[in-house]
Order: sequence, then structure tokens, then C-alpha cells
Amino acid sequence: MYDVKIPVLIVGGGPVGLSTALFSGRRGVATMLLEKRDSTSMLPRAPGLQARTMELFRAAGLGKEIRALEKGNSHAYFEGGIIKVDTFSDIDNAELLESPSLDGPTVSPERVMGCGQDRYEKVLVAKAREYGADIRFNTKLVSFAADEEGVTAVAEESATGRRLTIRADYLVGADGAGSRVRRALGVERVGRGTVFNALSIYFRAPELEKLLGDRKFILCYASVGGSLMGLSRLHGCDPWLAAPIYYPEKGEKAEDYTDERCVEIVRRAAGKDIDVEITAKVPWQGAQLVSETFRVGRVFLAGDAAHVHPPAGG
Ligand SMILES: Cc1cc2nc3c(=O)[nH]c(=O)nc-3n(C[C@H](O)[C@H](O)[C@H](O)COP(=O)(O)OP(=O)(O)OC[C@H]3O[C@@H](n4cnc5c(N)ncnc54)[C@H](O)[C@@H]3O)c2cc1C
Repeated sequence: MYDVKIPVLIVGGGPVGLSTALFSGRRGVATMLLEKRDSTSMLPRAPGLQARTMELFRAAGLGKEIRALEKGNSHAYFEGGIIKVDTFSDIDNAELLESPSLDGPTVSPERVMGCGQDRYEKVLVAKAREYGADIRFNTKLVSFAADEEGVTAVAEESATGRRLTIRADYLVGADGAGSRVRRALGVERVGRGTVFNALSIYFRAPELEKLLGDRKFILCYASVGGSLMGLSRLHGCDPWLAAPIYYPEKGEKAEDYTDERCVEIVRRAAGKDIDVEITAKVPWQGAQLVSETFRVGRVFLAGDAAHVHPPAGG
């Protein structure tokens, strides 16, 4: 009757779903993970791993492998904090806006680390598989129904359209901010909602590295022209990530940001006519929302499915 029987079914192969598979496997709990995309994240996305996260990865036998992904000493970038300039050409006159609390080195063998999801998610997949996780890309959750003894879920493979019926003792919805699992459970979220709208622009600009020299920072805001653009230096600079804020209430839309406009924005923030090649653009919302519950019977919500926070200073 069932195609698969498994103790824990995880929906979502982002950092949280993959970590759930990894840590469950380490405890001898078998998992199956469904991820609708065909691979791990191609974009760096969230680039900061806290000391506590590093402690957990270390305990799972991954400390060295994840640390090996670090470019330079990223702790120094965290120490540089969040700064503000008129343009990046004026980096020597940067104003310090915020210093993060970095007590990792004094109370822990681990410390914060800058590394994009495009790099560390691959390591999580390999280790979770080593611990026995059955990770299926190109496979999405279609529906599920929970009862007192477990959960019956239907998944679909995108390549073949084949449907699988899966019986699990527990289901973990780690399916991101728009969580289908949370919506199917009817769980509401509370909080301030959307705080700002931003567009992540990923780009190559070799001259920008020269312009910034060895100035360390997590995020540098350029305030030229009355608009704010945050430049991240945590995951490295190939590609760079910059995120201008836009205002839908003023009629602005993510689609207004053509490649040409993004090049202009980066050049204006740089304060110099540098070469810029746009490699990707992704709109996102900084929001603060927490689900009213993280568990309904045998179904759990985890990660962005359970709570979202604006990233800066988080
Ligand atoms: C484009 C983008 C850029 C971001 N940039 C930043 C940043 O610069 N800084 C920062 O701090 N944070 C950033 N974030 C947020 C950060 O990436 C998330 O907080 C983090 O990835 C949350 O991890 P997660 O595992 O909970 O969810 P996610 O990483 O969102 O993973 C959820 C996964 O579930 C999968 N999924 C969803 N529905 C189904 C289904 N029905 N069946 C199977 N799979 C499904 C999705 O494909 C996805 O891979 C960004 C997020 C996005 C989307």
C-alpha cells in the first residue's frame, strides 16, 4: 500500500531540512528528504554561520569540512561590523553603525564563519547521506494527512510525474518561508510582517575588491543619492552580493530593476565607473513572523517555515 515506510519524512532540502536529516541520522533515526529543486542552492543566500551552529556541525563530525570552505579569516569580517559610507570609494571614512556580539572565541572552541549556502549545503547533503538519509531531489510534497500513529504523504517526481505514497511516523516541514506544510496545517503566523523589500543583486566586479582594499565588514551600506544599498562581504566576492531596498508603497517593483539599472546602481554606490557583470537577481522580503505553534501532532515546523527574521544583525 505504501511505496516507502520511514520514521521521519522531511520536506525541504535547505540548511534546516538537511541539518534535520544529518542530526537524525547521527542518532540512528532513518529519514527521507524531499526537495523539489534539482540541486542544493546555487546562490550564497544566508552567508553567516553562528558559533553555535558551528559547534553543532563540529559535534556531527563536520567541523573541519565546513571550516575548509571559509575564504580567509571571516571572523575578522564579523568584527568589522555593519558600516556606512556615501560611496564605496570613500571606504576610509566609513561610519560604524553596529558591532556584533562575538563571544564565540572566549566561551567556545568554535567561532562565527562566513560561507554561502551554495558551498555548505553540498557538504550537508554528503554527510547526511553518509548517515543513511534518503535525499531525493526533483521530488515535491503534494499532500499529506496526519493521524494519531503517523503521517501519510504523497510526493511527485518532477522528471517522470511518478507519485509515491510515503508513510512516516513524523513529518518535518522545513519547506521555507512560504511553507506548504504550515499552510496545510492552518497554522497562522504573528509578528510585524514585512519590514522591508529588497532585491539581491549578485554581480562580478573585480575592481570593487581593489576599491575596498582590506577593509573588513559584514555589511556596508552606501547611502549615495538618498537610497540605501547593502553590500555583503561575508561569503567572499565572487560573486558580490548587494541588496538595494525598494518601496512598493511608492509604486516601485522588483521588475523595474533591469540589468542595466542594476549596473548603474552598483556603479553609483561604488562612486566610480567600474566594470559590473550581473549574474543573478532575486527579490526578497525582510519580515518578522513567528508561527503560533511549531508542532501539530506528528507534524513539526522548522526553520523559515516556523519563523522568519530580517537578516541584518540577526
Ligand atoms: C533567494 C533568497 C535569498 C536569500 N538571501 C539571504 C541573505 O542574503 N541573508 C540571509 O540571512 N538570508 C537570506 N535568505 C534567507 C535564508 O536563505 C533562509 O533563512 C534559509 O535558507 C532558511 O533555511 P530553511 O532550510 O528553513 O529554508 P529554505 O532554505 O528556504 O529551504 C526550503 C526548501 O524547501 C523546498 N520546498 C518548498 N516546498 C517544497 C515542497 N512542496 N516539496 C519539496 N520541497 C519543497 C524549497 O525548494 C527549498 O529548497 C535568502 C532566501 C532566499 C529564498
